[in-house]
Amino acid sequence: MVRKVKISRITRVICTYGLLTSLSTSIPSHAMNGTLINVASEHVNSEENNTIDISTQEDNKQEDNNQENNNQDNNVPENNPDLDNPDDNNTEEVKEPIYKAVKDTIYVKKQSSVYEEPDTSSKKIGTATLYKKYTRVGIGENGYDQIEFDGGIAYIASSNVTTKKPSVPTDIVDIEDKKYDYNEMKKDLEQLNVYYPDYVTVQSIGKSSDNREIYSAVLGNPDAKKHILIQGSMHAREYINTQLLMSQLEYYLIRYENGTYNGVSYKKMFNEVAVHIIPMANPDGVTLSQYGLNGIQDKKLAMSLKGMQKSSNFARWKANAKGVDLNRNFSFGWTKKAGASKRGSMNYAGAKAESEKETKVLVKYTKSIKGLKTVLSYHSMGNIIYWNYGQTGKLMSKSKELVNLVKDITGYRLVTQSSKSIPYGGYSDYVVRELGIPAVTLETGILYAPVNHSQFDTIWKQNKTIIPAVVLQVIEDN
Ligand SMILES: [Zn+2]
Repeated sequence: MVRKVKISRITRVICTYGLLTSLSTSIPSHAMNGTLINVASEHVNSEENNTIDISTQEDNKQEDNNQENNNQDNNVPENNPDLDNPDDNNTEEVKEPIYKAVKDTIYVKKQSSVYEEPDTSSKKIGTATLYKKYTRVGIGENGYDQIEFDGGIAYIASSNVTTKKPSVPTDIVDIEDKKYDYNEMKKDLEQLNVYYPDYVTVQSIGKSSDNREIYSAVLGNPDAKKHILIQGSMHAREYINTQLLMSQLEYYLIRYENGTYNGVSYKKMFNEVAVHIIPMANPDGVTLSQYGLNGIQDKKLAMSLKGMQKSSNFARWKANAKGVDLNRNFSFGWTKKAGASKRGSMNYAGAKAESEKETKVLVKYTKSIKGLKTVLSYHSMGNIIYWNYGQTGKLMSKSKELVNLVKDITGYRLVTQSSKSIPYGGYSDYVVRELGIPAVTLETGILYAPVNHSQFDTIWKQNKTIIPAVVLQVIEDN
């Protein structure tokens, strides 16, 4: 990018090294490593209002190739005696740069270095990234802007800065995909993290037994005092819920700055309550259900899975890649008798509580969230809600508030459970009874699991406003 600027008696001039080829013998090599070079004004033909081309593009090899053109355009004679040795006659007093005070939001046009001083040879204190908002507090005549950075003031080349919000695609998560899989989710999470760095934090919270990442995306302020957690696809064949949670994440990111629910802005909501979304708690199981044994990377795991069922069709698989039903593997009420005695069979609870990597990851992460107020677990199918895990007292009344809200939003039917019904190592049992946090289990879709993708629109509509509705309830509950 080349732009014309007028230079009138400014103290420092920024040039590309392309422009300064003839100086290369007298400029220390470390200064040449940076792209922007400060030169005392008397060493450039800078008479008042002299217009020269100033290029400030970092890493632009094209401009190196054009250096001869630049030299001509800029009217800088190749053998200008003044330019041969810029350290000579450097007697003019260096004035303090002047910054016009502002307070506005800026973005960078490309990934840009941020410095301690208005000088590229000063200490680099970080990198300003694309799509991230920064607060600008000063515009310098020296080609640098002052921005708030890491709790202090830092300097960035003005030419890399724009006040225009960069446009972002709004169709990252493919809702038409009939088999939304692990790789697609991973790619989409990475993209959402790039496009919405101010509003979402994506991290891996651990690995599965077949070495896949278990991701959490935190929508909103990670330092909020209150948090909610939503997880899906703990059961392999219930992967339509991954697509649901990913679509919800993108939906609220798109509307983060301008959207409202019941008159409250999403911005305020997600600043006060962070929403942790684990879109695929059992990535190996989902992959197995979608792609069969071909999806399993570890040969030993694949061999042992082969022995767990006669059929090579794993579409109806529920467990993880070790044949354990994760929703029977949590510690509260865990019993071997919860289901089958054989790996791979329906409801097999594992050799002991929390025997599985995926269970451990979820337990550790859930416990790590300070101020966790509510947990939603997405399963399929039946359009029903489980909510009664034998809790009592205040926890029971809070659970009722939550489940009534979830019922009103989704229209799903509450499952009548006896408060004496025995828990059996489920995640919600664990969250409610062990951690004392209200939790509900929603079962989306009807007829068959994997739920036919033709139901996605219906499921989406039923669950669209669950997030802001629950967040608002958490805000109002003091
Ligand atoms: Zn399930």
